[in-house]
Amino acid sequence: MARRNKIYEGKAKILYEGPEPGTIVQYFKDDATAFNAEKKDVIDGKGVLNNMLSEYFMKGLTQIGVPNHFIKRLNMREQLCKSCEIVPLEIIVRNYAAGTMSTRLGIDEGTQLPRPIVEYCYKDDSLGDPLVSEEHIAAFGWASQQDMEDILSLALRVNDFMSGVMFAVGIKLVDFKIEVGRVYDGDFQRLIVADEISPDSCRLWDMETGRKLDKDVFRRDLGSLSDAYTEVANRLGVMPKTSTTPTKPTLVN
Ligand code: 5GP
Repeated sequence: MARRNKIYEGKAKILYEGPEPGTIVQYFKDDATAFNAEKKDVIDGKGVLNNMLSEYFMKGLTQIGVPNHFIKRLNMREQLCKSCEIVPLEIIVRNYAAGTMSTRLGIDEGTQLPRPIVEYCYKDDSLGDPLVSEEHIAAFGWASQQDMEDILSLALRVNDFMSGVMFAVGIKLVDFKIEVGRVYDGDFQRLIVADEISPDSCRLWDMETGRKLDKDVFRRDLGSLSDAYTEVANRLGVMPKTSTTPTKPTLVN
């Protein structure tokens, strides 16, 4: 197979030029980072799980008419996606207080919010992705007023979809982050959900026990990250055909 041309390497993924114009290949790495890459590790099988889970969520979004970049999964670690121009924002939707919202506003983690709250962060690792207001976004031209209306609508639709999918398997969707990108059809531009949706970018808590099934397991040293992600994949029926972890020998009488 021809060697792929690398476009960009991020903390958890590598993007390559796709086989057709307007496509990219997204490769999911096993690298885990937190606190702006101050904490790092390699978690065996994480890339495979996130590839499968992001495929599952993006396909579901397509089914309900939420436009996104996913075209098809190529193999255990790669997916073919539409290329798009990423809007330099991280769009966060919160249903329960946790993480930086709890720290910033002094609200206990797990407190249900009166309604979903959408926040925007400017995507810049060197600044630590700071929280910004719609005033900043408009003034600095990161997105237009129309874009912001479309982004809000996409974010809330993703929230309803993801909350429902997770509720059905006994998991609470506490919050999540998405990214959106622009695709052009001649003079016409539209926004689509891009990047990934996976336990790396969501907070997922077991409804009965409160057990964390997301990247906080790594951020806060709460146990095995791959066990947590495998639990999410198992509940959703999204398991890689070949195991991502070595199988333990079974004792036979
Ligand atoms: P917080 O602002 O509380 O750190 O994060 C809110 C939500 O957005 C969490 O689900 C978190 O995983 C996600 N999130 C925020 N920033 C990033 C980021 O830079 N990368 C990823 N993968 N997720 C993020």
